[in-house]
Amino acid sequence: MRLGLRRGEFHLLYQPQMSADGKRIVAVEALARWRHPELGSVGPIDFVGVAEREGMIAPLGEFLLRQACHDGKGWPEVAVSVNLSGLQLSSADFPDVVKSIAAEQGFALDRLELEITESAVADNFDRVTGNMAALRAAGVRFALDDYGLGRARPEDLRRLPLDKVKIDKSVVAEIESERSTSIIRGLLALAREIGLKVSAEGVETEAQHAFLRECGCNIMQGYLFSRPVEAQAISGLLAQEPQ
Ligand code: C2E
Ligand code: CA
Ligand code: CA
Repeated sequence: MRLGLRRGEFHLLYQPQMSADGKRIVAVEALARWRHPELGSVGPIDFVGVAEREGMIAPLGEFLLRQACHDGKGWPEVAVSVNLSGLQLSSADFPDVVKSIAAEQGFALDRLELEITESAVADNFDRVTGNMAALRAAGVRFALDDYGLGRARPEDLRRLPLDKVKIDKSVVAEIESERSTSIIRGLLALAREIGLKVSAEGVETEAQHAFLRECGCNIMQGYLFSRPVEAQAISGLLAQEPQ
């Protein structure tokens, strides 16, 4: 992995996040890939855990954040969202690392969004929320990922310094079930009350889009709009948008 990082085998794809009507790209999410010389394209599910165990997540995370800021400079009209591992978020120097990478790349911190999971926070609550507060004071926004999948509860949304919550694709996939409907409606009511934006991932069908839009979901992401694509393709999609 260390060698792969040095050889430039890691890169990012970007998936558009759309306005509620599905017409405009408002942000892009950076999703990591490893072009492995023998295994071909390896997804993050298969290497993020390894990177964490082998002490590689800090250098890998920094490399990916630098790449996202670099690519994002070419898309001044949209925000760039980057996924974090809990290990990154709980390291004492994380706010300074983010600020210095963004400054070095000339990327404004108010266009950067960081996606975290509940488990990332649970392991080291005070340190993580302290780092989040420091970065938010500098303009960075935070989204809670995978809502409805894991352990995140409504109370977590009240006690964490967040700007947005993302409904997990497993909830969207079962949107016709009573469980999903009640998660989505409950979340949107709470989000309205405490001033959080809500986005949905894994939107694959018109019916899912229509339901989420009707419930008041602000941002839509999924194969219905676009798969994760290379940076160049994002530039192309943005160029095609009506001004
Ligand atoms: P996630 O953050 O929940 O990302 C959503 C995953 O769903 C992505 O998988 C994406 O490609 C996929 N997806 C997007 N739209 C659809 C859809 O309409 N239907 C379906 N079935 N899937 C869709 P991916 O790229 O394999 O990433 C998996 C996970 O790996 C991510 O889940 C995230 O937790 C983690 N990850 C990705 N990039 C990074 C990174 O740079 N750093 C860290 N620490 N984790 C990352
Ligand atoms: Ca994510
Ligand atoms: Ca998810």
